[in-house]
Amino acid sequence: MADAVTRLFPGTKVTIGPAIETGFYYDFDPPRPFTDEDLPAIEAEMQKIIAAGGQFRREEVGRDQAEKLFGGMGETYKLEILSGIAGDAPISLYRHGDSKFVDLCRGPHVGDLSEIKAFKLTSVAGAYWRGDERNPMLSRIYGTAFAAKADLDAHLKMIEEAKKRDHRKLGQQLELFTIDPKIGPGLVLWLPKGGLVRYHIEEFMRRTLLDSGYELVFTPHVSRDELWRISGHLENYKENMFSGLDIEGQTYLVKPMNCPFHCTIFGTRLRSYRELPLRLAELGTVYRYERSGVLGGLLRVRGFTQDDAHLFCRREQQEEELTRTLSLCLRILRAFGFSDYKLFLATRPEKSVGAPELWAESEAALALALEKNGLPFEYDHGGGAFYGPKIDLKLRDAIGREWQCSTIQLDYNLPERFELEYVGPDGQRHRPVMIHRAFFGSVERFFGVLIEHYAGAFPLWLAPVQARVLPVSEEKHRGFADEVVAALKAAGLRAEADYSNEKLGARIRDAQLQKIPYMIVLGDKEVEARTVSPRSRDGKQHEPQKLEDFISRLRQEAQVPA
Ligand code: ZN
Repeated sequence: MADAVTRLFPGTKVTIGPAIETGFYYDFDPPRPFTDEDLPAIEAEMQKIIAAGGQFRREEVGRDQAEKLFGGMGETYKLEILSGIAGDAPISLYRHGDSKFVDLCRGPHVGDLSEIKAFKLTSVAGAYWRGDERNPMLSRIYGTAFAAKADLDAHLKMIEEAKKRDHRKLGQQLELFTIDPKIGPGLVLWLPKGGLVRYHIEEFMRRTLLDSGYELVFTPHVSRDELWRISGHLENYKENMFSGLDIEGQTYLVKPMNCPFHCTIFGTRLRSYRELPLRLAELGTVYRYERSGVLGGLLRVRGFTQDDAHLFCRREQQEEELTRTLSLCLRILRAFGFSDYKLFLATRPEKSVGAPELWAESEAALALALEKNGLPFEYDHGGGAFYGPKIDLKLRDAIGREWQCSTIQLDYNLPERFELEYVGPDGQRHRPVMIHRAFFGSVERFFGVLIEHYAGAFPLWLAPVQARVLPVSEEKHRGFADEVVAALKAAGLRAEADYSNEKLGARIRDAQLQKIPYMIVLGDKEVEARTVSPRSRDGKQHEPQKLEDFISRLRQEAQVPA
């Protein structure tokens, strides 16, 4: 693709072009920004290059030679990349066929051009050089390639489906949330309808946690720097934190995590082993600095609410606690319609705290918890946090995409730093084990995934409006329409009537666009017989039925999952 682009658009500088999960992209600095209209010509040029045939050839060169080559070509970005390659690392070039094109690339590439059987350029986007908004804006071209045409077609169909489900588009269409530049990138405004969905998500979460032996706590958004010094955040995490406020000569920082607060709560008095496990849960809003270039909708944000909890227990309890936590996690995800996931056990990284025996014991405890829940998993060797091993869960949505979601982590670091202790049955003081866990990860991100999973058509218990009443004529049918809405509301259902002046067809279409689960059209027949003929958002027309029967059916369907 880079060869084709530089042939068609002389003067274009090439930058980086990695393989990504669903294909590849390449960032270019062209004389004018690329648009989607440029893609067919680039694809045609790529076809020509492939048709000309030939092999991909790797060549390792010295730094001087590479600098001379790319300097001579005016490829300034490549020179910058070169300067970032460590002195002893190999510098490799790739060429193909008889083309003049040469790229600085780590590789590997396919062996021969003929192996590229099916490809497609999918989109163009602006992207800052190195993801930093102070750098020049580049033109990024996304594409994908497959070994067979049928696989490409299936993939393109999936992309089409994904576009329809884009939570940014649906968030606007369904008035769920917005992000306003004068507030700042990555900071989310939840609109009333999104707020209502969130209320039901959070209520479900809180009730489930209280039923599962958790206790709810609330902690501030800011705290003195002292807290972050003890927790180690100032040392290890400062570049991700929103900077300090100076108040009465003290520096305060905005919290990026809730853990230090929960440790402080544990430490408010000496604990007895009888209190353990102590499970402190908080829907805690945190702020983290992410480069503006990587922010996107609800999936990467700067302010978000974690469904966070910290479990403090004895070493002997850690295995059972992990098993319980994992099974609760799966139960909660199932309630939201997710039952397909992949699990990873991330083990000790190179840089870590805590004795190796402790790590081995804890990794074994995590593995056992997975096995006890009958869950297959893969190891992510060295992928653990520096303070302990963890289980990560990626869920698969309705169209097969994977999303990083839940995490369950063991921590040896914070109990040590906060000098947490409990008195054991032996009368001695002991250090508790600490487990961090989040099931949604962040409420914002989970909501984004939920919108895409359901394509905005939330299950009844989450839908902001569950039924909309559409009188054929306001004049003739308003009385009964008001009665129906009142009866639905009295039964605890979320209902409204549409009395706008639009034609009935337009009002039905609007309800469908809003993905409202049930529409109830009321005309002479219904008013006369005092019945309703509900229509589902998928277009299914139900039999006329008594209002009471409809309500009891709806209440059944709207029940919060167990
Ligand atoms: Zn934590």
